[in-house]
Amino acid sequence: MIVIGFESSCDETGVALVSTEHGLLAHALHSQIAMHEAYGGVVPELASRDHIRRVLPLTREVLATAGIGMDQIDAVAYTAGPGLAGALLVGASVAQSFAWARGLPAIPIHHLEGHLLSPLLATPQPAFPFVALLVSGGHTQLMRVDGVGSYELLGETLDDAAGEAFDKTAKLMGLGYPGGPALSRLAEQGDAAAFELPRPMLHSRDLDFSFSGLKTAVLTRLRSLEKASGGLSEQQRADLAAATEAAIVDVLGAKALKAMRQTGLKRLVVAGGVGANRHLRAQLLGAMKSMGGQVFFAPLELCTDNGAMIAYAGAMRIKAGLADLHDSSHAFTVRPRWDLHEVCVATA
Ligand code: ATP
Ligand code: MG
Ligand code: FE
Repeated sequence: MIVIGFESSCDETGVALVSTEHGLLAHALHSQIAMHEAYGGVVPELASRDHIRRVLPLTREVLATAGIGMDQIDAVAYTAGPGLAGALLVGASVAQSFAWARGLPAIPIHHLEGHLLSPLLATPQPAFPFVALLVSGGHTQLMRVDGVGSYELLGETLDDAAGEAFDKTAKLMGLGYPGGPALSRLAEQGDAAAFELPRPMLHSRDLDFSFSGLKTAVLTRLRSLEKASGGLSEQQRADLAAATEAAIVDVLGAKALKAMRQTGLKRLVVAGGVGANRHLRAQLLGAMKSMGGQVFFAPLELCTDNGAMIAYAGAMRIKAGLADLHDSSHAFTVRPRWDLHEVCVATA
């Protein structure tokens, strides 16, 4: 079966085609980063309007790239939540209209399920069960994944997400939006040991995280340096970026390792935008090697939001018999807030 997937939960419009037998056939993406940059963050109304502008050209693009006709598509998947309501409604209404027009089933997908399964789009593919470290702009969670629809939350952030910590500290340092990649680039020239920053909850017994204190710590360093010498030198900026990155990565690495020990599993899977971070990748590769485990990452371009992971989650749900292929009502709703638990298969 061929599934077309639509993603529009935040500031990326993504469309993709996935075959249940052959995997990803094509994906096309438009990021609104440049448009929101001037505002220092995502402006919801602008996001929705831009999704409307982009979604049909991207749809034509994936069909052309894959050499697939509309009549070859068997099902439609779309992000139904969580995310920005107006943005979600664009993808949902386009997907449902497409499905209605062609008499196809439409499968609502939970955005985090898309992120979680995205490492399965890489080769080698991790086998179930595994521990997933989901590190995105809005979420930081450790999960035990036993199969499609079988997700057990092991721990999560109590306040800011890891991506948010990157973005907020980058903003404090006057770097662009989103700050993660910019801060990471600056950190390459820096010495992480030049500044001592807290590693919140590093030694707590649970698998939870807390990152909100980090931005306060960075702000304090910035203020005291400004007082002392009127500002930061380029080297100090790079050092502070490196120290921030190291603090975030250390905590993520330690908690992921703890989750592996607690579950006894040997496979770790990393998903979400922060999973693109080179330092995090290197740290986790080292940690897994030392414990005789394996780490799997989503393909680099599929770490942040994209349509491929949504089409893929749709295809996986169909294969697992978890998609309702007979609902022809095409009535729909989006879920700006939506607990992943609600899409889990009930277990005894
Ligand atoms: P959610 O899926 O939780 O709703 P989101 O979709 O906005 O959030 P993603 O698109 O998965 O999140 O990831 C975006 C985040 O990843 C941003 O916070 C960004 O700064 C961060 N990020 C992207 N690349 C890197 C990198 N190389 N290093 C660190 N952070 C990064
Ligand atoms: Mg984004
Ligand atoms: Fe996301």
